[in-house]
Amino acid sequence: MLAGRDLELVVAHTHGHGDHVGGDDQFDTVVGKSAEAVAEYFGITAWPEQIVEFDLGDRVLDIIAIPGHHPSHVAYYDRSTRLLLTGDSLYAGRLYVFDWPAFRASVARLHGFVAAGNPVDLVLGTHIEMTREPGVDFGLGSDVHPGEHVLELDPAVLTELADVMAAAGETPHRIVRDHFIVFPLSPAGEPL
Ligand SMILES: [Zn+2]
Repeated sequence: MLAGRDLELVVAHTHGHGDHVGGDDQFDTVVGKSAEAVAEYFGITAWPEQIVEFDLGDRVLDIIAIPGHHPSHVAYYDRSTRLLLTGDSLYAGRLYVFDWPAFRASVARLHGFVAAGNPVDLVLGTHIEMTREPGVDFGLGSDVHPGEHVLELDPAVLTELADVMAAAGETPHRIVRDHFIVFPLSPAGEPL
């Protein structure tokens, strides 16, 4: 609680992978890590199609379910800043796709949400694995990133992702673009 303001702290994630939830023990109230828990907390009764609002108090977020990288994955749209938080589903790096059909549907849903009159100034993901050289990523497990791509992405990159995933068909395959690499994995985490 903030001094003088009766505000509840909500700790929510884009998804439940360990590198995103490792600090949860520090908080009393955390939105769960499964799709069911996320849907229940935000009041999503038709997961993943239903897009819901979450009112912080004079500031509304839209919650868009986008499974594919992880079953519980959501994106957050902040109307006041026009930021779209895309977690591990869109960032300047390898977009690890565990569920290809779900990811294709999710990208289409997210792009449709933006195109329906929700303007985005910047897309912010949660990792950087691309260099500043178009289409060139750092090696897996690199612990230094000289010449790293910036974090923020132009919203046109979401349109680009939607276009390539719509055209990609049903067979998972790697897609290298200037600002991201679609990188399908088996359920066991092996590159396809
Ligand atoms: Zn992840």
